[in-house]
Amino acid sequence: MTGGLLALTFDDGPDPEITPQLLDILEQYHVPATFFLLGCRITSETTPILQRAVMLGCEMCNHSYSHPYLTVLTPRQITQEVSSATQRIILTTGQTPRFFRPPYLAVREDMFPLISMPFIGGYGVRDYDESVSESERYSGVMRIAKDGRIILLHDFAENTKTVGAVKRLVPDLLARGFRFVTVSQLFQEKGVTPSNEDRIIYSYPGQTAMYAPDAT
Ligand SMILES: [Zn+2]
Repeated sequence: MTGGLLALTFDDGPDPEITPQLLDILEQYHVPATFFLLGCRITSETTPILQRAVMLGCEMCNHSYSHPYLTVLTPRQITQEVSSATQRIILTTGQTPRFFRPPYLAVREDMFPLISMPFIGGYGVRDYDESVSESERYSGVMRIAKDGRIILLHDFAENTKTVGAVKRLVPDLLARGFRFVTVSQLFQEKGVTPSNEDRIIYSYPGQTAMYAPDAT
């Protein structure tokens, strides 16, 4: 037994096929996750999926409206990308996103004062890469799972290998004594108030450098 807190996070959704399959797993084991949503993917088709996620205790966060490299946009365009996603999330789920994850984790100095939410990174297993197998995703997350870490996965269209991995990961990590929490709960339980003034892209509460050290 190792144990501790873990925050499962999923980027680039909601997707009408993949996201409900993840919610089935979360519901089965009564665990929450945090979704970093793209505003452009929130439609009349996917809104009920997000409402179900909220009912299951999941947290809705902001991953921009259309997933551009924000670093090549003007300040005005950056503000629009972020605020239009926030508006759509509030309108459809009733939740006000508290955290932001920059697309590609690409940042420019002036993004921090422009975007009023703390920036969230995470420990990933390159699950956006089709060539990374389901079992590699599974064993990768099992390896990086440590108390307080934010796990970064993706629920974009057709990412079935991640669904397959999560199906095994949730029960196996529970069996190892981990408890799943949302990103908000993780900071709260660790007694850390995240800020974007320190220009940190948090992969765990208490981080002091901009990026977390490599997980491997
Ligand atoms: Zn993304």
